[in-house]
Amino acid sequence: MFDDRLRMTPGPTEVPESVRQAMGEPTPNPDLEPEFFEFYRGLTDKLERIYRAGDGTDGDRDVVVLGGEGILGLEAAVASLVGPGDRVLCLSNGIYGDGFTDFVENYGGEAVVSEVPWREPLDGNVVADVLDRRGEFDVATMVHCETPTGSLNDLEGILDVLRDHDVLSIVDAVSSLGGTPVPTGKIDVCLGASQKCLSAPPGLATCAVSDRAWKRMDAVDNPSLYADLGPWRTAADEEWFPYTHLSSNLYGLDAAVDLLLEEGLEDVFARHEAAARRCRERAAELGLEPYPTDEAACSPTVTALAVEGRATELQRAVLEEQDVLLATGLGELEDDILRVGHMGHNARVDRVDRAMDALEAVLS
Ligand SMILES: *Cc1c(COP(=O)(O)O)cnc(C)c1O
Repeated sequence: MFDDRLRMTPGPTEVPESVRQAMGEPTPNPDLEPEFFEFYRGLTDKLERIYRAGDGTDGDRDVVVLGGEGILGLEAAVASLVGPGDRVLCLSNGIYGDGFTDFVENYGGEAVVSEVPWREPLDGNVVADVLDRRGEFDVATMVHCETPTGSLNDLEGILDVLRDHDVLSIVDAVSSLGGTPVPTGKIDVCLGASQKCLSAPPGLATCAVSDRAWKRMDAVDNPSLYADLGPWRTAADEEWFPYTHLSSNLYGLDAAVDLLLEEGLEDVFARHEAAARRCRERAAELGLEPYPTDEAACSPTVTALAVEGRATELQRAVLEEQDVLLATGLGELEDDILRVGHMGHNARVDRVDRAMDALEAVLS
């Protein structure tokens, strides 16, 4: 129906043919066929390679895949690690960073927000200062790529400071995992989702979990049955899923992950960098600037352009006149930010060029 349309949004991303075909495979009974567990274990091993690509740290992580949209992973991480009265430091330079406070409060935790201006990246010195001045914390939450503002946070220093203070970390890497290296080895629960850089359809949340995180879960009384990571610790080995798994989605994700591994993750990451660079160059030629003030903080997976008050109108014109779908900002910045997603299968210079040609045509 919309076959010629180019969708350059920061998720869902274009789903390659082989992924769509894999989703059409016959449906097994995930609970009763041992081969399915073997398949699932193979998938989580492959995902672990993606989580650990370019991450120079040691140590294992258990990867689990939940049947639900990315938000389920965020909620499950908080529900599993945060109990009533626990103090949680929510680091924020954007909408998703702020959003963690809602989950924390829903599960009875005390959310303390440490915010920096949204055009700036998170800062390890600010975090160290907060930890010294504002008492003890059990858990900290943060976002690797703030998709709505196109900011990539450099988390390594922050994660080191947290570890020194014995604070567990939850990281939303939904829009960076598979597009750029994630420091998974320093993260206690690292969250991804199928529909962003992995280029599978929406429907699955991925979590890489540390031993420390599993141990803490034993001590937290999680009232949620669905948003609970605990049972997934042994699911693959004991061959018992907490609910019927989403087999078609898993088949699609497996095919998507195969494409990334066949290409080679270094090449995949370089492809994202090249697409992002081209996007910023083309934007500069049009007199448009990225929203983050520091180019080093611009995400390789999505470019947010500052377009004061014009985003909705530009997005509509590019769609109607050029059949290219871009995204606006979110929340208060809806009309001030125009976003070009170049993640997953869409992280290609020729696609960025097509999108920027479309924007150029509308602007002139
Ligand atoms: C896409 C995304 C999610 C998942 O939420 P949606 O409901 O798909 O928007 C979570 N975190 C980040 C940073 C995202 O970009």
